[in-house]
Parts: sequence; C-alpha cells; structure tokens
Amino acid sequence: MDLGARRLQDDDHEIQSTARSIISPGPTDEQTLTRQWANVRARLQREVGDVEYRNWLKQVALASLDGDELTVILPTRFLRDWVSKEYGALLTSFWQAENPSVRRVDIRTRPNTGTAPDLAEPTSAPLPMAPAPRRVADDRPAENAAPLDPRFTFDTFVVGKPNEFAYACARRVAENPASAGFNPLFLYGGVGLGKTHLMHGIAWELSRRNDINRNGRPVSVAYMSAEKFMYRFINALRRQSTLEFKNELRSVDILMIDDLQFLIGKDNTQEEFFHTFNALIDSGKQIVVSADKSPSDLSGIEDRLRTRLGCGMVADLHATTYELRISILEAKAARAGVDVPARVMEFLAHKITPNVRELEGALNRLVAHANLFDRPVTLEATQEVLHDVLRAYDRRVTIEEIQKRVAEHYTIKISEMSSARRARNIARPRQVAMYLAKQLTSRSLPEIGRKFGNRDHTTVMHAVSRVTELMAQDSGFAEDVELLRRMLES
Ligand code: ADP
Ligand code: MG
Repeated sequence: MDLGARRLQDDDHEIQSTARSIISPGPTDEQTLTRQWANVRARLQREVGDVEYRNWLKQVALASLDGDELTVILPTRFLRDWVSKEYGALLTSFWQAENPSVRRVDIRTRPNTGTAPDLAEPTSAPLPMAPAPRRVADDRPAENAAPLDPRFTFDTFVVGKPNEFAYACARRVAENPASAGFNPLFLYGGVGLGKTHLMHGIAWELSRRNDINRNGRPVSVAYMSAEKFMYRFINALRRQSTLEFKNELRSVDILMIDDLQFLIGKDNTQEEFFHTFNALIDSGKQIVVSADKSPSDLSGIEDRLRTRLGCGMVADLHATTYELRISILEAKAARAGVDVPARVMEFLAHKITPNVRELEGALNRLVAHANLFDRPVTLEATQEVLHDVLRAYDRRVTIEEIQKRVAEHYTIKISEMSSARRARNIARPRQVAMYLAKQLTSRSLPEIGRKFGNRDHTTVMHAVSRVTELMAQDSGFAEDVELLRRMLES
C-alpha cells in the first residue's frame, strides 16, 4: 500500500483543514461526530477497496474525542498494531479533513475485556468443494479455502483466440494434475479476462470427476486469493498456530492462489508462500497461480520465487477481441434466455472493452431492465440504460489521444489531423482517426468534425464509410486499424 501517494492526493484536504482550524472550531457534539465518522469510514472504504476495508477497518470503533485527540478502538492488539501501521496515517488525515479540531488519532484496544474476541473472518467458508464437502488429511474441514462460484465452470467459459491457450492449459491441469511441464500453472492477464473463472473451472472439474489421490482419499483442492492467504497466515501467527496452517495447506493435492500480485511487498507472507510452494511441488502436488503480470514482470517478487513460478507453464490471457466479446455476449444472452438483437451486441462489443466483467454487467443490466418493464431490448434502450457505463468508457479514449496515436502510427505530424491538406498520405490517416473517434467515443459527427480542423459532419460520415469499405477490401489495412483500436482500448 502506498501511503505516500494517498497522502499526496489528500493534500488539498489537509490544506482545507488547516485553513478551517484557524477559525478555531467549537466542541463537536456527538451527533456531528457520528456523522463525521460515517464520512471517514465511507472514504476509507473507497480508498482501500471493499476487501481490505472488510478485513481490517470495519472493526474500528469510535470511542471519544477529547480536546484535539480522537480515540478509536479495535478488539485485539494484533488488529490495533496492524491498523495503526498500515492505515494510521490515512485514518488521521481523513479525520483531520473531516473535523479540523482533530489533531491526533489514538488507536487503542478495548481496555481490559478479558479474552479478546475472535476476528471476524472475511469469508470463513468450508473447502471449496461445494457439492461434496471434502476433508483434508487431519480430517477437519480445511478453513483455508474460499468458496467457488457455481457460474465459473469450463462449460460457461467462452473460448476464443485470446484465451484458448490458457483455457487448454487449465483443462489439461484439471484432467491430469501435476503432470510434467504444467506444474506450476501460472495464469496471467488484465482485470476481468477470466483468470478466476478458469481457476474455479479447474476446481469444479476435479470435484465433478471425484478422483481419488495416491492415499486413496478424494483429491482435495484449496483455492484462495493471495490476500486471503496472507490473512490466514497472519492470523495463524497471532494465534501461534502456524504449524497447523502449514500442515493444512501442505496436505492438499492442488493449491490455487489467485491474484498473487497482492503479495508484492509483503515479505513474510511471500516467504511463507515460497516454502508452501516448494513443499507441495516437491511432493508432486499441483500448484495454480494467477497474477496480473507475467512472472518476469512482477516486480517486487523475490527472485527465487519468480524463478520457480516461471518454471512450469506460463499462460497469458490476452485482451478480448471484438469477436470474442460477441461470442461471450451471445452465450450469456442465450443462457439468460433473452433475445438481444445483433446490433445491440455489436454496439456493446464495440463500446465495452476489454473487460468481460463489465461487458457482463452491462448485459445483466439490460436484461434486468427489459424484464422489469417487459420491453424488448433495443439499441435506444441500451444507450439509455447504460448511459453512465458508456460515458465512463468514452472518458477513457479521447479524440486527442486517437489523433496522437494514429499520427504516430502513420508517422505524420499531429497538426495534420486538423490541416487542410488532402494528399493521400495525410488524408487517409485522418480518415482512420475520424473512424476510430466514431467507433470509440460517443461524440456526434459534428463534434468529431470540429476536432478535425472544423470539418463538416458529412466529411466525417464519408471518412467512416470509406474506412469501412477499405477494411473490407484490404486485409492489411483492416489489421492496421484493428491494431490501432486495440492499442487505444487497452
Ligand atoms: P479475472 O479473475 O481475470 O479478473 P474473472 O475470471 O473474474 O476475471 O472474470 C470476470 C467475469 O467475466 C466473470 O464473471 C467471468 O465469468 C466472466 N468471463 C471472463 N472471461 C470469460 C469467458 N471467456 N467466457 C465467459 N465468461 C467470462
Ligand atoms: Mg480474479
């Protein structure tokens, strides 16, 4: 966690709070304090994200404001230490921004409550094998795993060029765990491209087949996020039960750790993971790991771990292509039993990229809306219902960016995008940029025209149809345009 960056962001608040404190505020009544606390909490949650918030900050309780010192309490010493180390500065700065009379935030444990209450676990779920609860070697349900999403099976995974290799590797591991060359399996790729889906798919497939391991027991799988791994590990340290934790993890046949990038900078947890990893691999167990980058690009991971992560199979989930997005939409619409016109799917596949989670979210909203009002899904309804989503996407690509990228690609000056010159080597790139502006933003034709040296909307219209035509005739040109589109979308 980068407190430095956060503090920078908060500079404006700090300046505000200093300015206000000069006015010397009066005492804060309880109701105001409660309201301010709610604001601080909401801000913390936004800042650190739901998962971290739930794991660490949810249990912070407001105790008192005494002069300029605000006191908050936590149920255990462990939590107190963790929260003050990791979030103390943030908590203080948010409080100062909220209430200028606060100068210091004191983080304490509840005085003298005898035995400390247990930590609320983020998700204390049984082993992931939902259909038939599995037990691990010591015959107690492993507490170390997270539940599996019933929707994330191989059946529901739509395969296309960008993910076919990763999919094939995942299937292979599910069919034949710990086979040579596939251990560990390292899946990586950007957000929402299907890493978690594939990992759950492996676990479901294994559970469906109900295999028996070497010791005559059902094959056991533990799936958890790296974050959860850390949480469990720290908890075990606190309870002095690390041996139990280690034994439990080392008794599974397949260990899957999702979002390994979370362990960056968490040295002790990384170390523990490294030992677990080695113990499992050495005893012929399968490991599956996912991350947002390839092992070699994961900076902040110890070299020896990086090396071992990369020595099995490394499979990359590429950004979705338009074709894959269409197939996914078709599959999901069919599953939902809703008739979604082709042009609506085309529109969504063009606009929402490349994150499948967002694509899915958009489709779900459309379907819900159609059901609620008992209306067919139309392009107009789509634009209306998804107005906010579509705008968020627009903000990601601006016409200026498009002009810049296209100019770079064709090595012309960016000023030529607005110039009056009509030479083919200038006019064609300009048309491509207009075409992409129409495809990737929701600007109207006149708006686009204005950005290209005050041209008329009919010029933009002509550019769009000319580029479409050329793309159909010339596959080299089409590839170029697609490449530019992907670059702009990523
Ligand atoms: P990641 O873990 O890579 O961030 P997820 O596996 O959570 O992404 O996928 C995000 C959402 O998109 C999930 O609902 C998942 O089912 C869906 N999804 C991703 N890729 C595909 C695919 N190829 N076919 C069907 N659904 C997919
Ligand atoms: Mg994931």
